[in-house]
Amino acid sequence: MKNEMPRLQYPVNGLEPIISAETIEYHYGKHLQTYVTNLANLVKGTKYEQCDVEEIVATAPDGGIYNNAGQVLNHTLYFTQFAVAGQCRLPEGRLAELIDRDFGSLDELKRQMEDAAIGLFGSGWAWLSLTPDGKLQITREGNAGNPLRSGARPLLCIDVWEHAYYIDYRNRRADHVKALWQIVDWQAVADRL
Ligand code: MN
Repeated sequence: MKNEMPRLQYPVNGLEPIISAETIEYHYGKHLQTYVTNLANLVKGTKYEQCDVEEIVATAPDGGIYNNAGQVLNHTLYFTQFAVAGQCRLPEGRLAELIDRDFGSLDELKRQMEDAAIGLFGSGWAWLSLTPDGKLQITREGNAGNPLRSGARPLLCIDVWEHAYYIDYRNRRADHVKALWQIVDWQAVADRL
C-alpha cells in the first residue's frame, strides 16, 4: 500500500444513517488526510521514504512515523470495508468456513468484536485478523495499533477513536459499534484473506 488517500467505493452520504456525510467529510477528508500528509513529511530523507505503508507499520520503532503509518493503514482498511447498507455481501467460501470453525457463528464473532471495541479504554481499534498459523482472532489495540505489528494479517477493524462517532452518536460508542454491521461488506473482508 502506498501512502495515499484510498478511493471510496460509496458516495460521501452512502453510509447514512449509520455514518453521516459530515463524519465522512471529517474522518476521511480531514483526519485521514492529515495522517497521509504527516507521514509523507516525516519519511522524507529517511530510510522509510521508499517503503510501503505495511512495511513501516511492521518495522518502524514507536514514534511519529509508526503512529502516522499505522493510522494510514488502519483508516485505509476501515474506509474500504464498508458498502451502502442493503448492498453488503455476507461471508462466503473460505471466510465463512473460518468464521464457523473459530467462532461457531457470525453472530458470535460480532458479539466478541463488539465487546473488544466497546470495552477498549481510550482511543484505539478492535481488529479481526488472521494469525500466522491460520486462525481468526479478535484483538484490541490502543492508539494506532494494527495486528500486522505482531505478525497477523488484518481483516476487519472498528475505529473507536471518538472522532469516528462523536458527530453522529456523541458518547454512545456502543450504539455506533453495533450499527456498523449494517455497512460491513464481508466480501471486502474476504478479499484480504
Ligand atoms: Mn479514525
